[in-house]
Amino acid sequence: MQPKTSPSRARGHGKIAAARQKPGLDAAAVAKSLAERLPRPMPVAVRVSGRAKNVVLRLLPGRGLEVVAPAGVGGHLLAQAIDARREWIAATFDRLAAEGVTIGPAADFQRPARLVLTAFGREWGVSYAARDRAGGCTLVLRGPGQVAVTGAVDDPAAVAGALAAFCRDRAAALLGPALAEVSRESGLAYTGLTVRAQRTRWGSCTLKGRISLNFTLAFLPWELCRLVLYHELCHTVELNHSKRFWDLLERHVPGCRALDAQLSSARHHLPGWLGAAGGSGVS
Ligand SMILES: [Zn+2]
Repeated sequence: MQPKTSPSRARGHGKIAAARQKPGLDAAAVAKSLAERLPRPMPVAVRVSGRAKNVVLRLLPGRGLEVVAPAGVGGHLLAQAIDARREWIAATFDRLAAEGVTIGPAADFQRPARLVLTAFGREWGVSYAARDRAGGCTLVLRGPGQVAVTGAVDDPAAVAGALAAFCRDRAAALLGPALAEVSRESGLAYTGLTVRAQRTRWGSCTLKGRISLNFTLAFLPWELCRLVLYHELCHTVELNHSKRFWDLLERHVPGCRALDAQLSSARHHLPGWLGAAGGSGVS
């Protein structure tokens, strides 16, 4: 245990009171489902402790996330504990990575069971089938709300690349009409749209009113995605971040500065598998 990475020292955010007694849980199965909720890929181990009073999360270098569960606590409460600490998990993981400390080996990449474009309320279940394919992974639609990935499904970069390409296409198909509608509502016109994977920015706008949007906006809550659409459309009038720009944005999105502050730490909304997608993802 590394004291400085222990959430119990970080304003107690890691603690969620044990609510009610339940029979013992399947630690391995619960750990697997918890791993899918994480904002970064890493192994998860669940340890039931008779002495623990609260759920405690610890990031252990080289081992991943340890979840200490009081006896009788069910998987649902552990999932809540993870969800409540997503931001802390992502920030701590990234800070340690910047210091050269690896939390989990890349081999422990978790394939997601679902793809969720939160901003648009769209969701797909994902199934995987290994095939003898040297050329990476292929993703096909298997009906409404279901996709299948085949090929080198044990190769994290290949899987993440196929998932990211699918999400990018879907995000583009959803962001286009959304931007058009916001433009109509606001009367702020633009001349063109490109949706792509951008490493550092959610969006941008050129002098000629051409807007670029990061496809990963689709993973954010709609409120934050919408803010970026308005932000870029306001740049068609004010190509800067002057007071006039913010006044204009405030007229269209009341409370925009507080929302904008949320946006700066919004990367924790991005799915953990995206980090393995290399050039298709964002870092
Ligand atoms: Zn801007």
